[in-house]
Amino acid sequence: MGQINISRGQASDYPIVMRKSAKTASSAMPLLERLPAVERLVADAAVAPLSAAYGRPFVTDAAREIVANARADILTGRDPGIEFETLVGRISDRIREMMATSLIPVFNLTGTVLHTNLGRAPLPPEAVAAMAAVATGASNLEYDIATGKRGERDDHVTGWLCRLTGAEAALVVNNNAAAVLLLLNSLANRKRVAVSRGELIEIGGAFRLPDIMARAGCKLTEVGTTNRTHGRDYAAALDSGATLVLKVHPSNYEVRGFTAEVQTAELAELAHAAGKSLAVDLGSGSLGDLSRYGLPPEPTVAETLKAGADLVTFSGDKLLGGPQAGIVVGKKELIARLRRNSMKRAFRLDKMTLAALGAVLRLYANPEKLPSRLPTLGLLTREQGDIRATAESLQPELARRLEGVAAVEVSDCMSQIGSGAMPVDTLPSAGLTLIPLGSKRKRGAALERMAAAFRALPQPVIGRIQDGAFVLDLRCLTDEDGFRAQLEQLDISDA
Ligand SMILES: *Cc1c(COP(=O)(O)O)cnc(C)c1O
Repeated sequence: MGQINISRGQASDYPIVMRKSAKTASSAMPLLERLPAVERLVADAAVAPLSAAYGRPFVTDAAREIVANARADILTGRDPGIEFETLVGRISDRIREMMATSLIPVFNLTGTVLHTNLGRAPLPPEAVAAMAAVATGASNLEYDIATGKRGERDDHVTGWLCRLTGAEAALVVNNNAAAVLLLLNSLANRKRVAVSRGELIEIGGAFRLPDIMARAGCKLTEVGTTNRTHGRDYAAALDSGATLVLKVHPSNYEVRGFTAEVQTAELAELAHAAGKSLAVDLGSGSLGDLSRYGLPPEPTVAETLKAGADLVTFSGDKLLGGPQAGIVVGKKELIARLRRNSMKRAFRLDKMTLAALGAVLRLYANPEKLPSRLPTLGLLTREQGDIRATAESLQPELARRLEGVAAVEVSDCMSQIGSGAMPVDTLPSAGLTLIPLGSKRKRGAALERMAAAFRALPQPVIGRIQDGAFVLDLRCLTDEDGFRAQLEQLDISDA
């Protein structure tokens, strides 16, 4: 993989190279003349099957690219390697590289369970089966089988959402960012929305509350201060014309020390007394009480509604453990207003996501069995002793592989839930700590090379560099055999 680096610019840079180095060009002439014609390469017995599989125009393009690269190499005086067989090999490598899927599974050994960059929640087999069942053919996505009339796609999940949260109504969209945008635009376009200064968050990936607010057409009324916001601050904002109060779960940070926050129940009372609504963006939003599984408590959707929130939004692929989705639950008439907004059409879920979400929600029917059935919860509740046992079983093999390069130790570490759930709480975990041998001074570079070698495996292994070591937190290693099987291919030649 990646023997040849073809940047798109190279071929078109070529005339400039020619002009600049006429001398090189003259000494390169014999080599240039020996470059085989593209047609000859394409007609070669080893390339022809590729044309049959992928189409001649595509293969010809690849051949042209390889020849152009070789020509550029000759002109810049690099070793061109222009033997016919070499070029044929490059063409098939290039085609294989382009035909390989770029979105592939990786081992998430970062210690962050719900890692946004690594795809967040792993799905249970029930969800995968439900997706596969509707993926390849027609389904009753928006069709009521009983009446033979048009149906509503969200109906495949809203019943379960209401049942699990106690809400009157529910609606689903592409992600929680879309849910918040839809909510704000539907209820407070050109109106004022009151938000505590301590909750004007940035989640990363361009989700900054003030920006979302502006995009939704809302005027932001900042309430209170960064560390302390009181009921009277909200009351003043409502007095001066705020239509909606938005409470945001401060996902990825915590304000500590001299702080004050108005709880949902009090906020709901204030908003309702003024004839206004309260919406809560819970972010991760747990459907069940996590403390029953020994996890740090996180506000549940049901208790937030019970405390008086009119609408609650949360993600499908955070603590819920499902596919990427944004969920809004709450008052029927408010949900109806969101549903009528044309943005809802733009943000709607596709059939596979609805299928997966429906399957995941059904698992919540039995909370007792949830840790064994819902992979996210299974990972979050995995015992440190169990994780340590995995580390101990892998240690000898990895130590042998890295002999002379790095010391491999079994060590305890801390995992994070991630995706903004319980930002400061960590979970005791265990893993392997790889410490490069050799001079301390060069350790930084050695660690980068080690991390790169693990990323270069067929199923890339993503760890983290911490305190002068490369750490593999094994909490999320569910395929131990798969991990072990590819260690043979770990290329530490320059690590
Ligand atoms: C994660 C998060 C979002 C964004 O949700 P996505 O599903 O990633 O779009 C919004 N608000 C809060 C509080 C969050 O934690």
